[in-house]
Amino acid sequence: MGNDRIWLNYGVDTNNKLVAIEDVASGKTDLICPYCGKALIAKKGRIKEHHFAHSGETCNLIIKREPRDIPRLPLYDAFNIFLTGKELEQLKKLWHRHKAHDHGIDRLEILPAFTRENLVEQSQNVNAGTGRKAYQFSKLGQIPVGALLLAAFNCVQEPLIEQKLAHLEASIFDNSGSVLPLEELRVRLMDLRICYTQYKFSCSRGCLKNYKLE
Ligand SMILES: [Zn+2]
Repeated sequence: MGNDRIWLNYGVDTNNKLVAIEDVASGKTDLICPYCGKALIAKKGRIKEHHFAHSGETCNLIIKREPRDIPRLPLYDAFNIFLTGKELEQLKKLWHRHKAHDHGIDRLEILPAFTRENLVEQSQNVNAGTGRKAYQFSKLGQIPVGALLLAAFNCVQEPLIEQKLAHLEASIFDNSGSVLPLEELRVRLMDLRICYTQYKFSCSRGCLKNYKLE
């Protein structure tokens, strides 16, 4: 199989509806790849994230794309894919250091990935040691370190998903504002469809409105 880090989480059924990996049994399916139309197998083992694989060769539309191009819930973008193991370790260390004595995180302690993935944010306080503006863990940042209940994450990611949808919609047009070539357009529209389906699924699971941080 091609790039191990790109998972296909949706197949298309005979009614042209998207079907999530969670809703099928492991093994052969009647579903086809949303991008190339070839047959899919559901891989639901114990170790890797459950996903669909092509029963033959994985199509180029999946292999050639950067992981960032594949629409996913932003939450997964943030720590399943775009944080390396090393970065995650650093994030955990930072969390434990600051939980013990909260002087505010200094910017020198922050890896670029932490701000890129919105795991930390500027706080109102000043770092006691340096006198510089301090940072703190965002709600999203508290998920990978295990400090925020998983059940609360829908509240965190809804605005991010809205952003992602808007971004995908905008990406259907090129820089000059014209619509992209047909082939490209088909792929982007499928991206949008998958992302929207994920979005609705995430909303349907509800949201803990009154969740409080520890
Ligand atoms: Zn395919």
